[in-house]
Amino acid sequence: MKGKIFAGLLLGTMAVGITTQEREGIYSYKVGQFEVFMLVEGQRQGSAGILVGADEALLKRYIPAEGFFHTANAFLIKVPGSSGSPGSSGSLGRNILVDAGTGAGGVLLEKIKKLRVEPDQVDAVLITHLHGDHFGGLHKDGQANFPKAKIYLSSRELEYFTKTNINQGAVAALAPYSTRIETFNPAELGGRLTELLPGITPIAAYGHTPGHTVFLVENSGAKLIIWGDLMHIALVQFPVPEISATYDMDAGASAVMRRQFMDYAAKNKIPVGGMHIVYPGLGTVEIDGEGFRFVPKNKLF
Ligand SMILES: [Zn+2]
Repeated sequence: MKGKIFAGLLLGTMAVGITTQEREGIYSYKVGQFEVFMLVEGQRQGSAGILVGADEALLKRYIPAEGFFHTANAFLIKVPGSSGSPGSSGSLGRNILVDAGTGAGGVLLEKIKKLRVEPDQVDAVLITHLHGDHFGGLHKDGQANFPKAKIYLSSRELEYFTKTNINQGAVAALAPYSTRIETFNPAELGGRLTELLPGITPIAAYGHTPGHTVFLVENSGAKLIIWGDLMHIALVQFPVPEISATYDMDAGASAVMRRQFMDYAAKNKIPVGGMHIVYPGLGTVEIDGEGFRFVPKNKLF
């Protein structure tokens, strides 16, 4: 009887098809003691036109006729302090944001507040790369959205977009933080990795942009890879990692990185989270023939 009621409840949930968290665009997940929140900034109809080298047959195979969604996400990590409450002041509790979205409509700021973190309680913003949909939310009209946060990004990325091939939008977004930008030089996967902050390790994933960085989150033996823009259309790029997107500055290098990180995540059973993977934006990777399969964390089997 109990089993029947449970099955009924499950079916009920599936019939509705969408949870409150999903409606709110927030997915919460634990990495040891760390609380990780995947935050959706926006979702719209996706376009397979951004894929490079995908022929008609391949698209037909992986893209459903009714289309698919494109999403833009950021992640908030609440690191508990010695008092045990995440983000509590004076006890080493920290709130770490990974990427800042476009900033459109203040959507991410609202979601962060909903999680009981005020903008001035964000201690660090880790930037995977300097594209507008990742740094735009750092500021509004030249004012820092996170007045006390330090910005962390790879020195290669900063150098490229503020000196070599200047992105004025990135320069403007970073300007209010000029005295608190910390750069780092991430090691490659398989190299000697160094923590940037306790439990946070950057890994080089150059290709999408010259300094594109992936962050490994680790606590109490649990791990999560937040991989920024290693992919844009999960439906196609998990099964065929060799397909890149027009947004990838170096299509070849990003394809190599994509396969490398998928392989690493699958073999080491480390869940991944992505900025352009639709809700819950987080899941596990499995080897599937020549390619991979993505299993979203909220999927009921
Ligand atoms: Zn992006």
